[in-house]
Formats: sequence, C-alpha cells, structure tokens
Amino acid sequence: MGGMRMGQRRSKRTRRAACVALAVVLAAATAGCGPAARTPVSATWDDLFGTVITVSLHDAMDEGEADAVLAAVRARGEAVQNAMTAHTPGSEIGAVRAASGRAPVPVSEDTYGLLTLALEVAALSGGAFDPTVEPLVALWGIGTGAAAVPAEADIARVLKLVDYRRVVLDGTDRTVYLPEAGMGLDLGGIAKGYAADEANRLLDEAGVTHAILDFGGNVLLRGGHPEGKPWRVGIRKPVPGEDGYACVLSLRDGTVVTSGGYERYFVAEDGAVYHHIMDPATGRPAETGLLSATIICDNSARADALSTACFVLGLDGALALLGALDGVEGVLIASDRTIHTTPGLADVFTVADESYVWVNAP
Ligand code: ADP
Ligand code: MG
Repeated sequence: MGGMRMGQRRSKRTRRAACVALAVVLAAATAGCGPAARTPVSATWDDLFGTVITVSLHDAMDEGEADAVLAAVRARGEAVQNAMTAHTPGSEIGAVRAASGRAPVPVSEDTYGLLTLALEVAALSGGAFDPTVEPLVALWGIGTGAAAVPAEADIARVLKLVDYRRVVLDGTDRTVYLPEAGMGLDLGGIAKGYAADEANRLLDEAGVTHAILDFGGNVLLRGGHPEGKPWRVGIRKPVPGEDGYACVLSLRDGTVVTSGGYERYFVAEDGAVYHHIMDPATGRPAETGLLSATIICDNSARADALSTACFVLGLDGALALLGALDGVEGVLIASDRTIHTTPGLADVFTVADESYVWVNAP
C-alpha cells in the first residue's frame, strides 16, 4: 500500500530531484528482507524554496496518520517560506527591506529567531555568511533568468549596503531595523535548513522514529534505517555535468547540508561561469578553490548557514572555523579533487569515486 502511494506522489518528479539535490540519501530500501521490510511513505514537493523536497517516513504507520504528518510538514514549510523569502510579496523579510532607512518592523518569532541565528553565524564567520547580502544577490540577478555581470561601480555601491553588523534587532517588541535605505535581508542560505528543523520537530511530536527529510541539499536523518543500519548519505561530485557521488557518510541521526557553486549558476557571454554564493568581501561569486562544503551537525539551519560560510571562506578558513566549533563536522571538496574532513568523521566517511583523494584519511 505504502509503495503505491509513494509511486503516485513521486510521479514525474524523481528525475528533477536527482538533478537538484547536492547530498542525497542512497539506497534506503533493501530488497528481499521478508515481512519486516517496510516501504517508506513519502511525499515530494517541487514548489517550495525553489527546490525539490522529499519527506520519507519509515515507521509502520497507518495511512491517515502518515498523511496528517506529511500535511503538517508541508504547511509548516509553506509558512516558513512565505515569511522568509526575500522576493515573495508580503513576506516579513520583504517588509523589513521596504522599511529600510525608515522604521523598525515587527516580525514573527520564527523570523526573529532565525535572523538571530543568521547574525550569530555571520559574526562567527567574519561576515563570510551575511544575511544582508540581499542587494548584492539582487544586483547579480542570479537565478532570476536576467542574470548578468554588473558594472564594478554598481558592485562597489551595493557593497556599502552589505554589513550584518548594522542590523538592529530589538527583542522587546521583536523588531528588525535596517538603518540605510536600500539594505535588505536574504535568508536563502539558511531558511531551507530551518524548514527542515521544523519538519523534524513535527515528526518528533508525532512520534516518528525513522525518517529522512531531503530539502534539496539539506538532508536530515532520524533514527537510522528501521532495520538497524545507519543511513547512507552521498555527497555529489561537485562539478556540473558529473553525476554520482564523490563520497558517502553513514549516519543514524543528524543533518548533512552541502553548499556548492555548481547548483545554481549562469554562463556569461564570454563563457565565464558565475554561481549564486556571493563573497561579501569582493561583491562577486565566491572563488576560493572549494567546489563544495558540507556540514554535519544536529541543527539544519546552523548547518545551512555554516555550509555557505565555509564555501565562501575556502579550505583554510573553513577548517579554522569548524575546528573552533563543538559538535560540528565538515567535508570540504577542493577544485583539485582533494577531500578534507574534520576529525570526527573518520569512522563514518568513505570515498565513492576514485578520482577524488581523501587527503587526511586516517
Ligand atoms: P542553496 O540554497 O543553493 O542550497 P546555500 O545554502 O549556500 O545554497 O545558499 C545560497 C543562497 O544564500 C543564495 O541563493 C543567496 O540567496 C544567499 N547567499 C548568497 N551568498 C550569501 C552569503 N555570502 N551569505 C549569506 N547568504 C548568501
Ligand atoms: Mg546554506
């Protein structure tokens, strides 16, 4: 029964999912294991956060219960998206931008809390992750269909508006104030992770013990495989046009979030490739020699922000940042196809493609 329902819901979307996700759960189901083998009940949505989201519940549940859980997850995802997407009309983040240079704007607990976390990671990363990057993202127009390399003067002008230290939060009445007209917020590097955390919280409340949440590059795992094995999460080869996985993590719980320059990009008239992760230090797409940065920890929003930060920082900066944090691990893939991991991954990490070299293999 579950299998049929899953088949229906996944119709047509599987191919796109395979192209978009950066970290992917591999071969969750095992064949021929007798009556204990349960087919997951899944839902796939391709209209949230500009990506493909799949939630798979691996507990034995009755259909009505599973549907109710999935509907609640979807509704929560929509609410997070609507409040926090920079260019959704009526979003809280849009209202803060519209009032920049004029007035503080009251926001929901959700948005206030996530912005607080975003500013924390901004400070930790010295502004490599910076939620005030919005005017810069808008100037480049990456992902809008009208992307183009801006004039140097425009980059310089807009960069003056990018500085997380200028955001004024007031916890008493939960307001956000951007002190200069033209400043804006972009939570695109963290909101998906937050939606995954919220989905995880709903599954927890519903008593779901085994599940996989895949929010297009943000994977969140609950409780390992029902048969007792860990889940296997693949990290994609971070090169456009190369399919398959560079490496695999075996994990029961936690979140695996990858940022890479190969996911959203445009090719300029001169053939140069520009991707969607901006370096606030230069005003241009980050070019630091990393092809992807993956973070493993227990909070998907934090992992999301940190993965973007690490990508911008480059190998040495990312390793320094991760070394200073407890409970946060990372996998960094450089353009020379070397893979660098933090020490806590030694027992759960394997290379899946021989053209990549794990330089600090134990
Ligand atoms: P994705 O959303 O593609 O999985 P990321 O989590 O790395 O990838 O987020 C990239 C998005 O974050 C961009 O599309 C943009 O909206 C925003 N962004 C780009 N550069 C930065 C930055 N330096 N700091 C914070 N957010 C950024
Ligand atoms: Mg991110």
